[in-house]
Amino acid sequence: MRRFQLLINGEWVNPIGDAWIESKNPFNGEVWAEIPRCTANDVDKAVNAAHVALTKGAWAEMTASQRGMLLHRLGTLIARDATKLAEIEVQDNGKLFAEMSAQLNYIPQWYYYYGGLADKIQGSTLPLDKKGYFCFTRNEPIGVVAAITPWNSPLLLAAWKIAPALAAGCTIVIKPSEFTSVSTLEFARLFEEAGFPPGVINVITGFGSEVGSALVEHPLVSKITFTGSDTTGKLINQQAAAHLKHTSMELGGKSPNIIFEDADIKQAIYGAVSGIFAASGQTCIAGSRLLVQESVYDEVVDKLLEIARTAKMGNPMDSTTQVGPVTTLPQYQKVLDYIEIAKKDGATLLLGGLPGRAPGCEKGWFVEPTIFGDVKNHMRIAQEEVFGPVLSIIKFKDEEDAVAIANDVRFGLAAAAWTKDIGRALRMSEKLKAGTVWINTYRAISYMAPFGGYKDSGLGRENGQDAIKEYLQVKSVWINSGAVSGNPFVMR
Ligand code: NAD
Repeated sequence: MRRFQLLINGEWVNPIGDAWIESKNPFNGEVWAEIPRCTANDVDKAVNAAHVALTKGAWAEMTASQRGMLLHRLGTLIARDATKLAEIEVQDNGKLFAEMSAQLNYIPQWYYYYGGLADKIQGSTLPLDKKGYFCFTRNEPIGVVAAITPWNSPLLLAAWKIAPALAAGCTIVIKPSEFTSVSTLEFARLFEEAGFPPGVINVITGFGSEVGSALVEHPLVSKITFTGSDTTGKLINQQAAAHLKHTSMELGGKSPNIIFEDADIKQAIYGAVSGIFAASGQTCIAGSRLLVQESVYDEVVDKLLEIARTAKMGNPMDSTTQVGPVTTLPQYQKVLDYIEIAKKDGATLLLGGLPGRAPGCEKGWFVEPTIFGDVKNHMRIAQEEVFGPVLSIIKFKDEEDAVAIANDVRFGLAAAAWTKDIGRALRMSEKLKAGTVWINTYRAISYMAPFGGYKDSGLGRENGQDAIKEYLQVKSVWINSGAVSGNPFVMR
């Protein structure tokens, strides 16, 4: 068992209240680490450290190119420690080592990419309608950023925030989920080694209601970048609005994955399986609603069941395991509750539906890969985010019907369509109301492609060049070249 400390102003410290939270391994339910249970007092220390680092000292004096070099160095350190960090993620959130290892080996790209962008942030000179002035814009760091992350992919989702925020010149206080804080604490060790000055990044851990809220309210925090549930996101947004703080929100989803009759059915089924069962369905972009055209419905369902039935549950560290546990005990109970709700609402259970009890997994929080057929889009199982390995299959007649069903949900994070018809592919990319639309693929993401939600799935964009704007403020500077004079009482 290991006890982890907080990072505030470059120092590793105990929480002021000396209280701790146990971190459990979802594979066997055992406590394997302790993390600090912070309070508003710790938050205050961390935010003040971030504010000082932002306004004076080495970071504030650094050129954008120097910031970029530090980000690049950080990326190389993550690459060096990828295996160690992936193992920690697996112990904390139960995702497959194969997946976390691939993720950790990909994460450095975010730091390289935004490191490269750091010294390409530039204002512009403005063509003006007024004579005698020279006017230009500056892009300045927005201020101290509070980054709040969920439990499903802590280091990847942290990278989506940290890399652009630091490239923009901001400083950060990050609060990971109370269920999976260890990887963020361990990763934060690399900042000093990379050469970042103290206070540029600070890590606070604890419960959302105790520290997340204090962070959002803190007067020296200018921007909140949040990834998590839409319920928490809306609450934070209300709190932030009361102080006119900037926010970006990456929230939940109920993404449609649409198989048309002209699709490559084998590929589409692979896409459906990875869309919902990868990471045991615990991804915001999970393809949890599978829309299938009625002419191929039976074929798709039969083939899908054939594959899904073979899923091997087990130890996430084992390379042959295909489905790992659900990350937290409350989430495990929530998934099982939704399975009961779907049954009561009249959906037909085609596969799974029970706690997974593969040999060796008896103590973990496993749920069998579960598939419901005959789902109607108004049912709760089709409208609400389950965040688990539960697929709802919905039949549709034609393209118009597919679009209507796909968009008839309050979320809009991602959507996919499987078709060989290029015209239909283009129509789908226009008509599906989601921040990401995939054609003949599922789950592709990149540091280069903007990512974010329509509707209740969020505000703002992460990744790509757009993301850096989330951490900048534009200032217009007006210079009188000497030609402007006249009556001072007349506005011009
Ligand atoms: P959550 O909303 O319960 O918690 C997210 C974070 O917010 C945690 O760190 C938590 O401690 C903190 N928090 C909770 N209450 C708070 C409050 N009042 N003030 C400030 N912070 C508070 O979400 P979760 O269960 O950890 O994560 C799962 C959710 O995240 C799902 O809905 C999923 O779709 C979403 N998600 C979205 C994306 C995306 O990019 N859109 C990516 C991954 C996960």
